[in-house]
Amino acid sequence: MIITDTHTHLYSEAFDDDREEMITRAIEQGVSRFFIPAIDSTYTQSMLELETRFPENVFLMMGLHPTHVKEDYKAELQHVEDMLEKRSFYAVGEIGIDLYWDKSTLHIQKEAFVYQIRLAKKYKLPIVIHCREAFDEIFEVLESEKSDDLFGIFHCFTGNLEQAHQAISYNMKLGVGGVVTFKNGKIDQFLNNIDLKHIVLETDAPYLAPVPYRGKRNESLYILKVLERLSAIYGKSIEEIAEITTKNSVEVFNK
Ligand SMILES: [Zn+2]
Repeated sequence: MIITDTHTHLYSEAFDDDREEMITRAIEQGVSRFFIPAIDSTYTQSMLELETRFPENVFLMMGLHPTHVKEDYKAELQHVEDMLEKRSFYAVGEIGIDLYWDKSTLHIQKEAFVYQIRLAKKYKLPIVIHCREAFDEIFEVLESEKSDDLFGIFHCFTGNLEQAHQAISYNMKLGVGGVVTFKNGKIDQFLNNIDLKHIVLETDAPYLAPVPYRGKRNESLYILKVLERLSAIYGKSIEEIAEITTKNSVEVFNK
């Protein structure tokens, strides 16, 4: 069984004490493909080191996270562009709009989002979207940028059924993680109306740990709890869900 974690911040400081062991115990259980979203330039070096250490398992993205779009965003976007020019990545991410932490930067968040979507198109890469309290704003951008070469993943999808269909209409797969195991997570109520071909798995580690680890540090191995929940929702075996969602991840990342 090959399980793919399409969104995990393995370079996070939260893993500084036991990164090696944490990754190894995930791989031993079949969680062997890790797609690593970028945040900003301060993490680039750690991401590259992670790739050097686990070249068979770790696949990097490049991008500027919406909560890190600040006064220096132009220099940060230049870094993203330079890195994309210099070497290959598997996606532009994570990018998007976050109005939970800061509404005052909406204007530049939008600008950075559009800019990075165009970089993704230029390099024929998928995008990985971060959306928090910003569905309308994100869909507005996707509507204006939509094209055959715009595709990717709506990471940590927390919308309703209608928004799920809308995301899929823009060639996005839905990233499903720990939230699906929460009592108040809501998406478990309608997911069985969405064909599994649109779903990929993720942890967003070290954040959003699934039940029964909710509130604790999340790690890639805990994706098994997400897998169990999806198995119950779709009435398919864990092996089948792993196989289909890994296939979907290959389709998106071309890896
Ligand atoms: Zn993330």
